[in-house]
Amino acid sequence: MVTHSPAETRRLAAELLPQLCPGTVLALHGDLGAGKTCFVQGLAAALGVHQPVSSPTFTLIHEYASTPPLYHADLYRIRDTDDACGLGLEEYLGGEGITVVEWAARAAELLPANTWHLTFEVGKDLTERIITIEKSRPDGTGLLQNNL
Ligand code: ADP
Ligand code: MG
Repeated sequence: MVTHSPAETRRLAAELLPQLCPGTVLALHGDLGAGKTCFVQGLAAALGVHQPVSSPTFTLIHEYASTPPLYHADLYRIRDTDDACGLGLEEYLGGEGITVVEWAARAAELLPANTWHLTFEVGKDLTERIITIEKSRPDGTGLLQNNL
């Protein structure tokens, strides 16, 4: 997918929401400023969350009481899975909410097999973002790329 504004990235998240069931884990990859948090803002808005959504860089996990609940983690300050253990992330990953993890590669070993992987890249101009969505099959084997 290619988006041309933050609003388009938020809309893409909203369009994806009907495909996310309770328990779905989204791993967001891409550099700082690539649009990961913007995507989560779109998801939160579509879930009816009215609070402002920002990267939980210091708290690591924000919880929003939507239906299903939205859990937003940011592992930027984590080095690897060893660091990630003990943060309680596993409880969210196995829970009934939709869990979105920025910098998810830092806890790769903790992610369930059926995690969706979304990669954000800056495109050829300042407001272009290339967003690749790899959606796992229901049985968790392999990935279906960009099959929205
Ligand atoms: P990340 O969480 O990946 O570090 P953010 O979502 O916090 O990134 O920031 C993305 C920045 O890029 C914001 O300042 C936003 O306004 C800007 N931006 C410009 N174009 C887009 C786009 N198409 N999609 C998302 N963000 C965009
Ligand atoms: Mg962010």
